[in-house]
Amino acid sequence: MPIIAPRRAETRQDSSALAVLRAAQRAGELVHLEDIPGQQGRSTSWPETVRPEIAAALAARGVVSPWTHQAQAAALALAGRHVIIATRAASGKSAGYLAAALSQVLDGGTALYIAPTKALAADQLKAIGDLGVRGIRATCYDGDSTIAERTWAQAHANYLLTNPDMIQNGMLPNHARWRGFFRRLRVVIIDECHGYRGVFGSHVAQVLRRLRRIAAHYGVGQPPVFILASATIGNPADCARQLTGLDAVAVTDDGSPRAPVTFALWEPPLLHTYAEVRARRPATTEAADLLAAMVRAEVPALAFIRSRRGAETVAMAARDALDGELAGNVAAYRSGYLPDDRRELEAGLRGGRLTGMATTSALELGINMTGLDAVLIAGWPGTWASLWQQAGRAGRAGHHATAVFIARDDPLDSYLVHHPDKLLRHPVEPAVLDPANPYVLGPHLAAAAAELPLTGPDLELFGPAAATTVNDLTAAGELRKRPSGWYYARHRRPSREISIRGDLGRPVRVVEEATGRLVGTMDEPSAHRYVHDGAVYLHQGESYLVSRLELADSVALVEPGDPGYTTQARDLTDIDVMRERRRVRWGDAELVLADVRVTRQVVEYARLRSGKKIKEPAVPLELPQRTLSTVAVAWTIPNDCLLSIPGNDLGGAAHAAEHAAIGLLPLFATCDRWDIGGLSTELHPATGQLTVFVYDGHAGGAGFAERGFTVAADWLSATRNAIATCPCEAGCPSCVQSPKCGNGNSPLSKAGAVSLLDLVLSNTP
Ligand SMILES: [Zn+2]
Ligand SMILES: [Zn+2]
Repeated sequence: MPIIAPRRAETRQDSSALAVLRAAQRAGELVHLEDIPGQQGRSTSWPETVRPEIAAALAARGVVSPWTHQAQAAALALAGRHVIIATRAASGKSAGYLAAALSQVLDGGTALYIAPTKALAADQLKAIGDLGVRGIRATCYDGDSTIAERTWAQAHANYLLTNPDMIQNGMLPNHARWRGFFRRLRVVIIDECHGYRGVFGSHVAQVLRRLRRIAAHYGVGQPPVFILASATIGNPADCARQLTGLDAVAVTDDGSPRAPVTFALWEPPLLHTYAEVRARRPATTEAADLLAAMVRAEVPALAFIRSRRGAETVAMAARDALDGELAGNVAAYRSGYLPDDRRELEAGLRGGRLTGMATTSALELGINMTGLDAVLIAGWPGTWASLWQQAGRAGRAGHHATAVFIARDDPLDSYLVHHPDKLLRHPVEPAVLDPANPYVLGPHLAAAAAELPLTGPDLELFGPAAATTVNDLTAAGELRKRPSGWYYARHRRPSREISIRGDLGRPVRVVEEATGRLVGTMDEPSAHRYVHDGAVYLHQGESYLVSRLELADSVALVEPGDPGYTTQARDLTDIDVMRERRRVRWGDAELVLADVRVTRQVVEYARLRSGKKIKEPAVPLELPQRTLSTVAVAWTIPNDCLLSIPGNDLGGAAHAAEHAAIGLLPLFATCDRWDIGGLSTELHPATGQLTVFVYDGHAGGAGFAERGFTVAADWLSATRNAIATCPCEAGCPSCVQSPKCGNGNSPLSKAGAVSLLDLVLSNTP
C-alpha cells in the first residue's frame, strides 16, 4: 500500500531468506515448504463522492488508482452504509477508510479513529500528516497526551485518533467537553477489529454502544457511519454486528496485489535427553539463531515471539550470536516500553538501522513495516487471523517473502507442524466474544447511566441481557429508577473501575531503585509471576534483579545485574463449583459446564541455570491469593471405572490429560493456552470423582470453556490422538508437559492419559 514509505532500493534476491534456512538446517528441521502464489492487483477509480483534494493527496502518496476494495469501501461509507473491510494484511485498507473519512471531514464533519494500541494510532497520525491535506486537524488522544494537547483536541481536532481505553475512561465520562466533536461526528473507524475478541472484545463492544448513545445525544443529522477494518476473518459481517450492534456490508474481495510467499514449517531438533527428559530445542532459541543468521546474511527479518520475556531473550541471544557492529542491528520491541523508545525502534526498523527485531504481537498490528524479507513466527500465535497478519508483515512491496513457523515443544505446535493443511489451509476463525457477560455488561451500564440517564430504548442498544442487568444494578443500589429513566446513584466514576483489557488490576511499574527510572510496566497477575521478590527480570536485553515487589503501591523495585540464573515461579490452584450450567452423560463419564471460583497463589520460585532447575530448595514467597469467578468445562468419571489405568496412577493420568487438552483447545476456540487454565485431581471434593477442569482465565468467562463443552467429543479425541501419536516414551513437552504448570509437571502419566481419555470417549454419542 503506497501510503507506506517506499522500500529501500537495495532489494534482496528473492530466495535469500530461504537459503539462510537451508543453510541453518542440521537435522531435518525444515519439515514442510509451501508456496503461496502471488496475485495481480485490480485497480479502479475513486467514486465521485471522494473529495478531489483527498484523491489528489492519496495520488501524491502513490495511490493513483485505488484497488477495487478500497474504492468499494469508500463508496459504501460515503453512501451512508456501515462497512467492514476484511482483506489481507498490507492490502491497503487504510486508504479505503481515509478516502471516506477525510472527505467527510472536509465537508465539515469530524472523524474518530480507534486503534487497539497507542502505537498504531501514532502510526496512523503520521500517515495522515504525510498526506498534507489542508483543513485536516488530526491529533492523537491517548494516555501520553498532555493537558494542553487534550484541550486543543477538544476545541479544534476534526480527526481524532485514540483507543478504546481513552474513549471509555476519557471521552465518554467527559462528553460535554467533546460536545463540538460529537455534534459533527460523521465517521467512526475501528481498525484491526479482529483483535477485539474474548473479554477485551466484549468490553469494546459495550464501549462502542456507549459511544453510539453519546453520539446520538449530541449529533445533528445522520448518526455516524462505522467503518471497521479487519484481517481476513471467517464472518466479517457477524463480527461487525457483535462489536457495534449495527448491520454492516462486508467488503472481502481483495483487489490488492499479493507477493508470493514461501511458508516454511520448522521443527526444532531434539536435544540430547538428560535425566530421562526428552525435549526439543526451545522455539525461542531457534528463533534467535535464525534471526541472527538472517541479519548476518543481510535479510531484514522480524521474529514474532509469544511472550514479552521471550522477545527480550531472543533479541539478547541474537545479539550475542552476532559479533561487533552487527549486534547493534538487533532490538526487541514489545508493549510496556515507553512511547519514545517505541517510536525510536519503529523508525530504526523503517530506516534500515535495525535489520533484525524480536517482537511480541505488539508489532503485529498495522504499524507500517517495510523492507522485511522474512518473518519468523515462534510458536502458534493464538489465531489464524494473527498467523496471517504476522506472515503478512513480510514482502509488502511485491517481493517474494518467506514466513517461517517455528514449532514450540507443545502439543498444539507439534500437531500443526505435522499437519500443514490444518495450519495453512484452515479457514480464519470467527471472533469469539460475549458482550452479555454480566461482569462486562453491568459496569458498562453503570458507566452509561453516569454519562446520561438510561432510558428504555437505550436498553435495546445494550442487548437482550440489559434489562435484567439494570434491575440487578438497581437492586444493588448502583442505579436509581426515576420516571425519566435509571440514574447512577453513587458518588464515584464507574468507568474508572472498568478494566477493558481483562481483570488485570492496576499496572505494576518496574522502577530502578537507585535512580527512580521507570524501566517498564506489567499487569498485576504477571507481576506475581515475573517481578516477585528475588526474581530476575529481563528488559531490552538487560538483566535486573528484583529487590522487592510492593503490591500496595503497584511498584517493583529492581537493580541492574545478571546473577547468572533466571527464575521460575510456582503457583497453587483451587476450584470451587458455584453453579452448574449444563451437563451431559457419556456412559459412566459426565461432562459439565459450570460457574466456578478459581483461587490461585504464587507460593515459591526456583532458580534455573541454562533452563535447568538448580538443585536447591525452592524459595518461598508471601504473595496474596487471587480469586477469579469464571466458567469451566469439566469431565468426571467414577474411580471404580478406572481400574485399567496403567500403574493406577490416576493423578498422573488426569494431570497429563489436562495439560494436553489445554494445549489443543485453541484449535477449537479462539483462544490461546495462556487464556485458559486447568486443574485436575483424582478426587475432587465437589464431584467425589476424578475430575479435570479447564477454565477461562477471565472473570465471568470469555466463551472458551463453553466452546470446549460444545465441541468436547472432537476436542478430547484430538487430545487423545495428539498424546497417543507423540513418538516420545513417557511424555514430553510436545504432548503432556506444560510450560506453565504450577506443579513442575509432576505427576504425569502419558499412557494413563490415553487410557483415561479412551474411557471418557468410549460412550460419546
Ligand atoms: Zn511426547
Ligand atoms: Zn500441571
